[in-house]
Amino acid sequence: MSEKINIRGVEFNNVTFEEAVSLLLDAVREKKQTALFTPNSEIVQACIEKPELFDVINSAELIVPDGIGVVKAGRILRTPFKGGRVAGYDLGRELIRRLDGTDAAVYFLGGKPGVAEAARDKLLEEHPNVRFVGCANGYFKKEGEESDAVIEAVNAAGTDVLYVCLGAPTQEKWIAANRAKMPDVSLFLGLGGSLDGYAGLVKRAPKIFIKLGLEWFYRLLKEPWRFKRMMKLPVFYFGTWKERISQKKSGGKRSS
Ligand code: UDP
Repeated sequence: MSEKINIRGVEFNNVTFEEAVSLLLDAVREKKQTALFTPNSEIVQACIEKPELFDVINSAELIVPDGIGVVKAGRILRTPFKGGRVAGYDLGRELIRRLDGTDAAVYFLGGKPGVAEAARDKLLEEHPNVRFVGCANGYFKKEGEESDAVIEAVNAAGTDVLYVCLGAPTQEKWIAANRAKMPDVSLFLGLGGSLDGYAGLVKRAPKIFIKLGLEWFYRLLKEPWRFKRMMKLPVFYFGTWKERISQKKSGGKRSS
């Protein structure tokens, strides 16, 4: 699909934002089943701590670096990403813009009850010709009958593009375990809290924070409960430097 960059065991695609959008649109046009995951450094660190997660995360056809930590790790390991950060939130938003007026059937899954519908309604104000075929909240048991009922509804709606916004790594695990049961879905997008954003419930950080690479800090100020999760970040950072130093010792060669 494109050149890969291995960051601490996760196989990212080295793509710009626009290339990622094109690959997603190709998948819809050609009905080529594709999953998009957008791991940040918290998720990469979670894989390192629970290696069985690597298979789940690396199962996606398109993996883009959503987070300044992963982009910095690319530089530290001397395999920089040509497009810098590719934010899942923006990809999901742009895709809606590009699907406006096409016959692709879009389904929103995730968030608290009512959030998916609110996101759809907000987006329809700007893009009235997107073909939304269903919405469902993300609070169901991720295995067994409740999950099967969600899958049945997605299939019955004739879904082409499924937004799966259940938080990471829940959404990635659910997609990897269930995509084969939805053979006609072309695109699975694991997009965390994006529906909350599209619905206007969560504000994106002001541009200056994004520009300075401090969006994580803005989120921490707004949602202090993230502190524990974010403690993974320094661990990730030091581990990445350790890898760089061991690269040097082995003559600058990377194992992958
Ligand atoms: N969520 C969900 N089902 C669950 C748990 C969470 O739909 O069982 C939703 C939650 O309402 C929120 C999103 O998943 O909209 C997680 O957002 P967050 O910003 O925490 O995403 P992450 O940072 O994990 O990607």
